[in-house]
Amino acid sequence: MIIVMRPNAPEAELDAVTSLIAALKLSAHVSRGAERTIVGVIGAIEDKEILLAQFAQLEGVDSVVPISHSYKLVSRQARAERTVVRVRDGVSFGGEQLAIAGGPCSVESREQLDLTADAVARAGANLLRGGAFKPRTSPYAFQGLGEEGLKVMRAAADRTGLAVVTEVLDVRDVELVERYADVLQIGARNMQNFGLLREVGGARKPVLLKRGIAATIEEWLMAAEYVYVSGNHEIVLCERGVRSYDQQTRNLLDLAAVPLLRTLTHLPVVVDPSHGTGVRSLVVPMSLAAIAAGADGLLVEVHPNPAAAYSDGPQSLTLANFADLMARLAPVAAAVGRGLPAPALMV
Ligand code: PEP
Ligand code: MN
Repeated sequence: MIIVMRPNAPEAELDAVTSLIAALKLSAHVSRGAERTIVGVIGAIEDKEILLAQFAQLEGVDSVVPISHSYKLVSRQARAERTVVRVRDGVSFGGEQLAIAGGPCSVESREQLDLTADAVARAGANLLRGGAFKPRTSPYAFQGLGEEGLKVMRAAADRTGLAVVTEVLDVRDVELVERYADVLQIGARNMQNFGLLREVGGARKPVLLKRGIAATIEEWLMAAEYVYVSGNHEIVLCERGVRSYDQQTRNLLDLAAVPLLRTLTHLPVVVDPSHGTGVRSLVVPMSLAAIAAGADGLLVEVHPNPAAAYSDGPQSLTLANFADLMARLAPVAAAVGRGLPAPALMV
């Protein structure tokens, strides 16, 4: 069960709630978000009806909600309205307007980022993606430019009016990445890095949480719960495919997860068709399908010269492919009652 406090409820009212929880020999998990404080009540509850009424009459309590899922605060039961994660003016996840991120797998150079940022902004994206810290299977593969890469991304994004989404790989880098990024990406390989989830739970930038390589929907929502309960309520889920037996595609993109998640959670959901398929020719059709299925946006790899990319060239769209995608996306978005992002400010 969760207890939602009224906005600006004084500390004494919260204390009264947590004291009653303690008196009942239950434990309280207090999650203080920017807008409201939510208290999760954990433990064996005997007479639910009586308990619900008991908490509901305390001062400062807005609502008391019984939750049957293992994930609580991110569940649809906890919040009937869909969460809109606002990044800044003109960029949000979960509203009527889609959020579209385009950019390279890895930040390689200023020139590469400038060319890509100009092209994706002109095509109608509102976020720039790119990795400065790369989770590579081999320790000998390109690991990313680190802080230099973050600077290059920030500069290209500011020049074009795009927002930056980039991966934070390590708890030690959260503060650094937060200084440059608008959205903190948690990669598939770190979806159950609980220390990292707690750390970004304390950050003041929204978190884009990718589905783990072989994660169930429930495990993924539990990972989101870690971020939420740690105080960051601005979470976007990103379906990026799961490992399967077929060698024809890199991953199996689970598009059924999109409408399913809408019934299970209030958090917005985007799709990464690049890692989801691993195959350039499949990226456009799966992007269209993702939006048709109700996704709140896309994360797409784009490179000025995919053949020369340091990572993920085979799944990267060219600049022209990305412009084509955006043109084809407009009628699909309109058909499901969504709009493309407002044009970025400075192109
Ligand atoms: C990425 O987006 O560049 C990335 C590494 O994705 P994932 O964590 O989904 O593999
Ligand atoms: Mn990649």
